[in-house]
Amino acid sequence: MLIFKCPNCGGNLKYDRSLKLLVCDACGSQHTAASIGKASFDEDGGISAHSLEIYEKALSMSATASTAEAWATTAEMFELIPEVFESQQLADQCRQNAAQLKTEEKYNTAVTLSQKDDSSSLIHAIQLFSSMPDYKDSATKQRQCEQRLKLARSDEQKAELHRQRREAAKQRTHKFISLLVVATIILGVITLVVRQARKYDPDLITVKITDTSTEYDPDASPYINGCWYINFDFKITNGTLSDIDYMTVVTYFKDDDGKLIMQMSSEFGGYGSSSMDLKSGDSIKQETYLSEHQPEKNESFVELYEADFDELDVSYKITYVKFDDGEVFSDGY
Ligand SMILES: [Zn+2]
Repeated sequence: MLIFKCPNCGGNLKYDRSLKLLVCDACGSQHTAASIGKASFDEDGGISAHSLEIYEKALSMSATASTAEAWATTAEMFELIPEVFESQQLADQCRQNAAQLKTEEKYNTAVTLSQKDDSSSLIHAIQLFSSMPDYKDSATKQRQCEQRLKLARSDEQKAELHRQRREAAKQRTHKFISLLVVATIILGVITLVVRQARKYDPDLITVKITDTSTEYDPDASPYINGCWYINFDFKITNGTLSDIDYMTVVTYFKDDDGKLIMQMSSEFGGYGSSSMDLKSGDSIKQETYLSEHQPEKNESFVELYEADFDELDVSYKITYVKFDDGEVFSDGY
């Protein structure tokens, strides 16, 4: 330790903290750092007024230091001037204070963390307590945290399990709803397509001869030998979803050997004026006939005229339909 010498008498100067002045042991004179600096001590012992200023500043900082950081800074300042008075001791003391405050701050942080419920806070608290097992009740608190960590982990696992189950249930519901939506859309499309198809489907129109009769009119004009007639009663049922204005049908008459006797084309309704006006879902009766005034020249007519209709194989083919909304079915005729 270097001692400042009194510029008056050469005695030893001591620093008086309350006066913030250097006081001579021998003559009692008081000196400021500046006045010492102006004296010849720079040459003498290499001790400058600057060092003394640092010393004074470090002392005043140590009077107000309250954080670990403040104590560390103060220690650093004393360490700059180890040769001045008891600076080295004071630096050590400041270092200790800093360390203690740091430990206290760490302890407080650990206590705050230990009061939380999540496992990561508790793990952090355990780490801090275990780094200072001898400080206060750190060891006890560490054990408490370890107990709470077990519970927290168990709770977190349960919560995670619940979350996963909820997620899975949610996904199942989403999947089901998606399927339901898709199914509904498909059903809707099918219904539309079916409905559209049914709207004009000629297969939904049934044609049948319900009665026949024959007659000969000897006075039929303008024929010399009169005229022969075969009359047909048709029953037509409209199973489509549209009304029918007009249609043509080909009727095939076959004998019981399957031989075609005759095919007859019939038309019902007319293109404009005389509409069938056959409503969707309704049935209508229509009469047609075949006539011949020279049966000797028409073998098929005679055969049909003389046939027992109940024994004939009669089939029908719808060849053209005009619906009242303008839609037309035609199979090429
Ligand atoms: Zn003196």
